[in-house]
Amino acid sequence: MTVAVVLFTADLRLHDHPPLRGALRAADEVVPLFVLDPAVHAAGFDAPNRRAFLAGCLADLDASLRRRGGRLVLRTGPVAREVGAVAASCGAQEVHMAAGVTRFAHRREEALRRELVSRGVRLVVHDTVVTALAPGAVVPAGSDHFAVFTPYFRRWSAVRLRAPEAAPRRVPVPDDLRGDPLPAPDAGPGVSPGIPAGGESEGRRRLAGWGRGGQAAYEDRHDDLAGDATSRLSPYLHFGTLSPVEVVQKARARGGPGAEAFVRQLCWRDFHHQVMAARPESSVRDYRARDDDWRSEEEAAEEIVAWKEGRTGYPVVDAAMRQLLYEGWMHNRARLLTASFLTKTLYVDWRVGARHFLDLLVDGDIVNNQLNWQWVAGTGTDTRPHRVLNPVVQGKRFDPQGAYVRRWVPELRAVTAARIHEPWRLPDGERARLDYPEPLISLADGLARFKHARGRD
Ligand code: FAD
Repeated sequence: MTVAVVLFTADLRLHDHPPLRGALRAADEVVPLFVLDPAVHAAGFDAPNRRAFLAGCLADLDASLRRRGGRLVLRTGPVAREVGAVAASCGAQEVHMAAGVTRFAHRREEALRRELVSRGVRLVVHDTVVTALAPGAVVPAGSDHFAVFTPYFRRWSAVRLRAPEAAPRRVPVPDDLRGDPLPAPDAGPGVSPGIPAGGESEGRRRLAGWGRGGQAAYEDRHDDLAGDATSRLSPYLHFGTLSPVEVVQKARARGGPGAEAFVRQLCWRDFHHQVMAARPESSVRDYRARDDDWRSEEEAAEEIVAWKEGRTGYPVVDAAMRQLLYEGWMHNRARLLTASFLTKTLYVDWRVGARHFLDLLVDGDIVNNQLNWQWVAGTGTDTRPHRVLNPVVQGKRFDPQGAYVRRWVPELRAVTAARIHEPWRLPDGERARLDYPEPLISLADGLARFKHARGRD
């Protein structure tokens, strides 16, 4: 009886999983393995919301494997050591896994290779399944990556993606393997009350629901804050419970008015991944330095706390920050305007905001988070790096009736649409009755400071 190990990482699914298929082709039995590695925690990637979501993903993966005659083997410890020990204990000749994109993933792969070579086990690394198209699959002449989205999207769109693979019917797993108990999927300390359920089954249910209605209206409604008309698939893509190849292929196959806009948005994931693969230091350093002399965390301490708690006195900013605290998720438009408020209006370092987002987002992802923060801060790939989003204008445009603000800022529930984004303009008596803060800063002052800092005044 031959045995192969398949190591799950950011690909917690059975559908469209080339490493699993590879392992099944290579051996009579496979060991589906996930390792809870303390290095993830040490690297600062761990957060209660993602831990809770991950627990749901692992439970669902185990249940799906059991329906196919197998089960998930979970081990806790340094990944190389644990994979090596499992391979030795079941006499596996091969370990299959998907290539990672980040520096962290590359280091993990190197450590694993060293360990397995020393044990005479072959490591089979399949193409990445994190993105639809691997970083480097398309490159511009004379560079190792695209620095601007639109030309990347054009080239990316012209590539024919592989066909997604079906989930295997049977996954035979050896009986006598020791594993640790799966983490409990219940909410632990620090978990936001409104996070979604993790897992491939839930991801596929949402993807199917999205196909039945959401996508068609996407182009017109994706910026409507109260309408909440985006797919909310990001946590499922982050944990790989959905295959990006399959999501893109399904969107294209459905076609219709929203298809192009939705696929374009999915392409942003790939775009950021190819930037990060080429410039891994962008997770902590400016991709394009603008000589910013950001205000220090000490200097802006009170403002940062007000921003995090949703008490800036700018209703749409506060609504968004409270949505993040409650759901561990935020609408893209809201991410843009809250990040602009922190970096450009308050002139606080993008890393401070990125850290806070990573502490809470269920989809929090070093690649998409850091590079989107840089995009907004103007240190990234935005071709208009000095633009500033005005939260009043943004609120009026993307939440014209104030329904989003009323949902998250109950203090303003009684305020009419005409004043909800500028409660300071209410008559004094009415204003005094509201238990809602005055604006933290005048937008004009914030803008002047930012323009001065960027040498544009
Ligand atoms: P939809 O609008 O339905 O889009 C479909 C998918 O496309 C998303 O699920 C996502 O995977 C991808 N996508 C959409 N927009 C972007 C984008 N700008 N960059 C990369 N991928 C995108 N996304 C994350 O997945 N993880 C993060 O940590 C993250 N941090 C962000 C931080 C900031 C400051 C900003 C401005 C954006 C960030 N995004 C991040 C991108 C985007 O906001 C989310 O992917 C999106 O809001 C998720 O909601 P959705 O699934 O309903 O998106």
